Amino acid sequence: MIQIDLHSHTRCSRDAFTSMNQLDGFFRRNPSFVLAITDHDEIKGAHEAKKLFDRNIIVGEEIKSSEGEIVGLFLKKFVEPGMTAEKTVEEIRRQDGLIMVPHPFKRTGNLDSPIRQEILFENTDFFDIVEVFNARNRTYGANEKARRFADANGKPVAVGSDAHAIYELGATFAMLKSWDGRKESLIAQLHTASLSCQSIHFIPRLITKVMREIKKMNS
Ligand SMILES: [Zn+2]
Repeated sequence: MIQIDLHSHTRCSRDAFTSMNQLDGFFRRNPSFVLAITDHDEIKGAHEAKKLFDRNIIVGEEIKSSEGEIVGLFLKKFVEPGMTAEKTVEEIRRQDGLIMVPHPFKRTGNLDSPIRQEILFENTDFFDIVEVFNARNRTYGANEKARRFADANGKPVAVGSDAHAIYELGATFAMLKSWDGRKESLIAQLHTASLSCQSIHFIPRLITKVMREIKKMNS
C-alpha cells in the first residue's frame, strides 16, 4: 500500500517549518509514504527533497496566480507567481505537469487565496485533480462542496494535509494499492482511491500559527 499526500510544505515556504532532517525521520517511519512538496511560490525545497528521498517525493509548487492559488505537480522548474490562471496552467502543461486545484471553496485564512469561483466553474478543464479534503480547511462545508464539484465534473480527487510543520504530516492521505511513479497511473487510481482525512487539530494549528508570526518578525 502507498499513502499519498499531494499538498505539503517545507521550510522553504515563507510560512512553513519542515526541514529535510525531519522529512528523513518521517520517511524512516513511513517508508511507503509519498509526499508532494508544494511550497508557496518556491520550488527549491521540493527539488532538494527529491534529491534526498527520490520516489517518496513529487516535485510541486503552490503558485499564487493573479486569480488564486493553483498547484502544479511533477514540475521540472519554478513557475512564476502572479500570472493569470490561464498562463499559469499553460506553463505547468508546457512542463508536462499536472494541475490540482487546492482547497477550492476555502474562505478563511489570510495567506490562502483559493481560485476565483468563475475560473473554477467556467474553466473546469484547467484542472486535472480536485483537492476534496484539505486538513487546514476550516470553512464550513468547503471540503464537502469540493467533493461534489469533483464528482459532478468527473475529476479525480486528492487529499492534502497542507502540512506546514512535521507534526501535521501523516494522517491525511489517499491510499493506492501500488504506484509506479507515473502521473498517468496516479490519475487513474485517484478516481477510486480510499481516503484518510483528518483535520489538523486546534493545538498544533495554534503552535504553527505562533511559529509563523515569529518567522515573519525575523524575516
Ligand atoms: Zn498549501
